Amino acid sequence: MAQGSGRRFSNLRPDKVLALQKGRLRQIIWLVIAALLVFCVTNFTRGTTINLAFDLGLIVMLLLAHRWNQQGRLELAAAWMIVTLLVGLCGLMAVDQGLYDEVPLAFPALLVFAGMFGSRKLLVMLMVVMLAVLAALYALHEAGILLSVPRPLNWRRPLAMILIIVFSGFFVWLLAGDLLRNMVRLEAEKLALQASRERIALMARHDSLTGLPNRSLAMEQLQYLLGKPRRGQDMIAVMFLDLDNFKTINDSLSHSAGDELLCKVGEALSLAVRGSDMAARMSGDEFLIVLGDLENEDAAADTATRILQALSQPFVLDGVEVPITASLGIALAPRDGNEPAVLLKHADLAMYQAKDAGRNAFRFFDASVNQGILEHLQIASGLHAALAHDELEVHYQPKFDLGSGRVVGAEALLRWPRPDAAPVSVHRIIEVAERSGLIHEVGAWVLRQACDAAREWRRAGLGELAVSVNVSPLQFRRGDLEATIREALAASALEPGNLELEMTESTFADTPDLIGVLRRLGELGVRITIDDFGTGYSNLAYLQRFAVHSLKIDQSFVRNLGSSAQDEGLVRAIIEMSHCLGMQATAEGIEDAQSLARLRDFGCEFGQGFLWAPALPIDQFIAFVRERHAAAG
Ligand code: C2E
Ligand code: MG
Ligand code: MG
Repeated sequence: MAQGSGRRFSNLRPDKVLALQKGRLRQIIWLVIAALLVFCVTNFTRGTTINLAFDLGLIVMLLLAHRWNQQGRLELAAAWMIVTLLVGLCGLMAVDQGLYDEVPLAFPALLVFAGMFGSRKLLVMLMVVMLAVLAALYALHEAGILLSVPRPLNWRRPLAMILIIVFSGFFVWLLAGDLLRNMVRLEAEKLALQASRERIALMARHDSLTGLPNRSLAMEQLQYLLGKPRRGQDMIAVMFLDLDNFKTINDSLSHSAGDELLCKVGEALSLAVRGSDMAARMSGDEFLIVLGDLENEDAAADTATRILQALSQPFVLDGVEVPITASLGIALAPRDGNEPAVLLKHADLAMYQAKDAGRNAFRFFDASVNQGILEHLQIASGLHAALAHDELEVHYQPKFDLGSGRVVGAEALLRWPRPDAAPVSVHRIIEVAERSGLIHEVGAWVLRQACDAAREWRRAGLGELAVSVNVSPLQFRRGDLEATIREALAASALEPGNLELEMTESTFADTPDLIGVLRRLGELGVRITIDDFGTGYSNLAYLQRFAVHSLKIDQSFVRNLGSSAQDEGLVRAIIEMSHCLGMQATAEGIEDAQSLARLRDFGCEFGQGFLWAPALPIDQFIAFVRERHAAAG
């Protein structure tokens, strides 16, 4: 039995079970009506009008039950149906064989029916009514009113019938309870299974953090929009959005604040687009917006402006107002492509154009700019892989004391052997590394290699050779350069005096606390050189304020030493100025003996160039220096 004997089974039934029962009841009603119609026909042909009227009355009562069933009043319909059947059966018994009639054989079926469709109360009431009918028939029989039954009536017969009805009722009670409970349980399990399937399907197509559609759903939507017939010149826009400063926020605040920011950005994006558009999260701080039915490019530009404005309101995280900006790239279909993957790639490239334009901006895809960006992306991803797979190399260009002609050190220069790809200049590699943020990793790696190499030279018996490492302005700006240098020196056990850092003049601009950094590095014993001197932002006041040890004259002046009086004057002036400021001078790009002679005349201390050797792999460099030492005796 379900919980509590007075409870109706229907209280437990989910909709599905009720619907099933409603259908069954309808079938049974029509079946019984069909049977009654057959009786009607036989009664009509036999001319028994009373029986015919009785059958028709039953049919009308059943139609009423049918109507209630249709209205969803299942229990009333079931009860009414039972009453109808009972009246019919009792009527048949009364006019026919009484207690000897075969009609009571149908009573258990009625009990089953009441058990399945009605309530337990109905079942009990039905049993009581059935017993009362039997008692009444017995009484009528004993009173001699029912004559159709053989006499005398054995009392065992009504008793057996009573027992059959009571036992049947009891079994039905138990069975119906079990059956309904199982149906309800099965249905509940089915619903739970369905719900969990739906949840899994939802999770597979939505981002678990922001709740926004994920990449696959966005691509599906895009595919759908592309496949849909479009009105006239209507366009579809794909917008690729990347937050400009998310990494900094994520690093400086807690990661949960970073997550919260992504959720808030997701909400802001959803609000900034129309209900029919889709804002999705691709990964990390990248979002995709898919817009359909745009009349022209301006409509896409309007939405992009709205999105950037929405994101320009500061977000409050951990009680702190955090300003963010985003870069947005837009690709339009059919103009920029008709395939989801192509549009996505073009929107991504346009996003890089927006970043190049100074961030916090949007850009439409422009095929002419595409090639450069594509190359940039290829180099960046290749460089990333090369770093991870240890495919980068450092070569060393010997540096000479121009007075004695001895090798005093070497400049460490990055090399990236790419046997299967077109060669890329080191300038370009460094530029890509700087723009993609890889420069910090690359720079730290070169620094470690160079320090290890300088140690190795000592072990190889080359004496005290200094190693010069080029350092990007971005490495100075990030603020962790000192720690990186200390680590590299400690790991290689190199004396700081044997390490020289080459910085360019552009480092002077926009580097916080550069004076302090250079002073501390100087105190540590590391030497500082200004590389490519003469080509950058030459505010000479800097040379006095910053702790710099030497100037490296750019090769563009050195190259023309024999032919250009102007360059000669400039080189001479730089050398003299460096001496006046207590610094030394180095010339790079010395390719011929004439230039070397001029530099010696001007008192330049050091030099390097193809006149002696290009940058060499470490083994060749060691062999080169040994040879020089041997030749010099
Ligand atoms: P740089 O620091 O001025 O290095 C000197 C460049 O001139 C090197 O080019 C070198 O191979 C080249 N060179 C040396 N002697 C001669 C010569 O006699 N004639 C000519 N024509 N060229 C000569 P490379 O190796 O292609 O490097 C280019 C630039 O890339 C470097 O200029 C430097 O600014 C940058 N770079 C190289 N390695 C690194 C690095 O590890 N980190 C950073 N941040 N920048 C690097
Ligand atoms: Mg250099
Ligand atoms: Mg240089």
